[in-house]
Amino acid sequence: MLEYESIFRLASFVLIFVLMAILQRWRPRREMLLGLHRWPANLGVVLLDTLAVRLLFAVLQYLALPAGAIAVALWAQSYHIGILNMLMLPAVVHVLIAIILLDLAIYLQHRVFHALPVLWRLHRVHHSDLEFDVTTAVRFHPLEILLSMLIKMAVVVLLGAPAVAVLLFEVILNGMAMFNHANFRLPIKLDGWLRRLLVTPDVHRIHHSTLNHELNSNFGFNLIVWDRLFGTCRANPELGHTSMSIGLEGWQQSPTHHLGWMLRLPWLKK
Ligand SMILES: [Zn+2]
Ligand SMILES: [Zn+2]
Repeated sequence: MLEYESIFRLASFVLIFVLMAILQRWRPRREMLLGLHRWPANLGVVLLDTLAVRLLFAVLQYLALPAGAIAVALWAQSYHIGILNMLMLPAVVHVLIAIILLDLAIYLQHRVFHALPVLWRLHRVHHSDLEFDVTTAVRFHPLEILLSMLIKMAVVVLLGAPAVAVLLFEVILNGMAMFNHANFRLPIKLDGWLRRLLVTPDVHRIHHSTLNHELNSNFGFNLIVWDRLFGTCRANPELGHTSMSIGLEGWQQSPTHHLGWMLRLPWLKK
């Protein structure tokens, strides 16, 4: 599986990215002023994130430790470590439970990154984008990406998640993030149907509001059930989807679309 993993990941990323870029050009939800000017920085940080993760994996391999979420899943499986590895359930049930619980973990992690000031400094890089489109989905500080990888590896071991579930979850999460950050106007009826189960662009955009109570709602990336269950779900922004203000309160005059500024943001004071 590992030989095809990178190809599968890259192909699904490029395919969904291009599809969302076409959709948001075809039926934009909001007017863009900066638009493509943000893309070099938002996509540039992905290259740095990839390099940072490669470096982390090289260090883990040097230390003879499993490098990455899939490697750690295979390692846990071989030693029968983790909750699911101790249960005798059909493989498909293992995979389903693991995907659902990994989604819960990512929801909880997102809430912690908002709640703890030191982690919020990293996560606010994602929120500092003044506009909201498919490239916002990949705008994360390298340190947040590294921390997320380590947390995910720990959760995978704890759950005893099967390697195939981890791979599927990562691909679904990337695809869903690009979908629910797309500046794409879904037909209202379709949005209504989809948001019974999933996080749609109109749902996640509210999380990018400059208003504090909206910023602290809609933390989910895939399933909407966690926001409903924990009371953090918000159906509509106060000012409406096309008029609401996006970005970080107090940082809107900053050069948010410059890569250097993005990388320094965790240490900047206001
Ligand atoms: Zn957030
Ligand atoms: Zn987001």
